[in-house]
Amino acid sequence: MKIMKFGGTSVGSPERMKSLINLINDGERKIVVLSAMAGTTNSLVEIADLLYSDNIGMASTRNEELREKYHKVVEGLYDTADFKKSGHELIDSHFDYIRNFTLRVFTKLQEKAILAQGELISTELFQLLLQERKIRSVLIPALSFMRIDKDGEPDFFYIEENIKRELGKYPEDNLFITQGYICRNAYGETDNLKRGGSDYSASIIGAAVGAYEIQIWTDISGLRNNDPRFVEDTKIIRELSFDEAAELAYFGAKILHPSSVNPARMKNIPVRLKNTMEPEDEGTVISSKCILEDYKAVAAKDGISVLRIKSDRMLMAYGFMRKVFEIFEAYRTPIDMVTTSEVSVSITIDNPEHLDNIAKDLRELGSVEIERNQTIICIVGDFRTERTGSAPEIFEALNTIPLKMISYGGSPYSISLLIDTKDKVNALKLLNKHLFN
Ligand code: ADP
Ligand code: ASP
Ligand code: MG
Repeated sequence: MKIMKFGGTSVGSPERMKSLINLINDGERKIVVLSAMAGTTNSLVEIADLLYSDNIGMASTRNEELREKYHKVVEGLYDTADFKKSGHELIDSHFDYIRNFTLRVFTKLQEKAILAQGELISTELFQLLLQERKIRSVLIPALSFMRIDKDGEPDFFYIEENIKRELGKYPEDNLFITQGYICRNAYGETDNLKRGGSDYSASIIGAAVGAYEIQIWTDISGLRNNDPRFVEDTKIIRELSFDEAAELAYFGAKILHPSSVNPARMKNIPVRLKNTMEPEDEGTVISSKCILEDYKAVAAKDGISVLRIKSDRMLMAYGFMRKVFEIFEAYRTPIDMVTTSEVSVSITIDNPEHLDNIAKDLRELGSVEIERNQTIICIVGDFRTERTGSAPEIFEALNTIPLKMISYGGSPYSISLLIDTKDKVNALKLLNKHLFN
């Protein structure tokens, strides 16, 4: 069995949706995971934000605008009057549902229910399209098997049991459609796997059913050696190891959700990144095979804050680091980078929600400086510590840019640097020139 996940642009218009049929309709047993149409989740986030701020009029307006957009999609998607009618009814049921929230007190729970509508709509529209084309397929609701636990982690045991039970109901079928991104939480409520989470869904599903390959179809051919949004002439990397891909995804390569490598790695299932607009391009394959190169790729992650804690008491004191880390743990805030000196430690985080409270608690241990708007640049390559002379090109390339932290030796495959976000584009371009050209 294989998994094919199609992202927002791949289902972004009636034409794109129709073009998927050729890619999936080959009789091979597969699960097709769909995202919401491009832009929809952003619009739903906006509606939820408006409801939070009690701007009900504007929320209703946005809801009706989105409803209209989808009625146009229905007109372009189906050929026959009957299917157009079913499509319009389907759209109205979802937007009536969202409209109902404007009449009640708005909570986090309802926000999650609203955010789920994008994936529910795209999969239902697509299933209807397959019916119109008389292609046999089954829509399996992600909410019947995808589940996270109290810590927000996938409940793999539950997922495997339940997806197998769902598939078992249709022994004669080969083509299954389901939603990415959405799930239930430990309390059975509708929840999600965070923005961009459909990749994660695909990987979790692939691991649960023991797929032979997980394909992530998007709007670009493969993972590039630098961020194509900021750098021209990037090149496709044809093969990446799970470790390398995980580092790049975590540190900003948007083509993959940061957590999506893990489930595939656990079951040793290759992940292939493919382009719906150029399906014949083999794309990038991510597997356990590791082909080391001096420099493979560069990625950047914005929205980083750095905390610098300085304490005379730290000098020769054991237990100091534990006290520092416990504060981050208490606020459930993951740490990205750490560097230390004799009397100080610098720590970066990407979630500033509890930054002020963390800083307040850290001040019990010493003085604390905070800098926001920082970017981590991650360079993936061969940085095994037994090598000599690795990485001088990185520092030559960046000798005009202030480097605020350097993390080397944590992983044999990556080096991370902290810079000011205003220097990011320049840094990515300089690295491209010095490392890859
Ligand atoms: P989808 O909606 O299909 O999930 P995304 O927008 O989430 O697509 O991811 C694809 C985008 O990721 C590309 O259009 C590209 O701009 C961006 N991207 C960022 N870094 C990279 C990279 N290193 N290689 C390829 N694409 C990248
Ligand atoms: N639709 C969701 C988002 O835009 C999930 C995804 O596309 O992967 O974040
Ligand atoms: Mg994505």
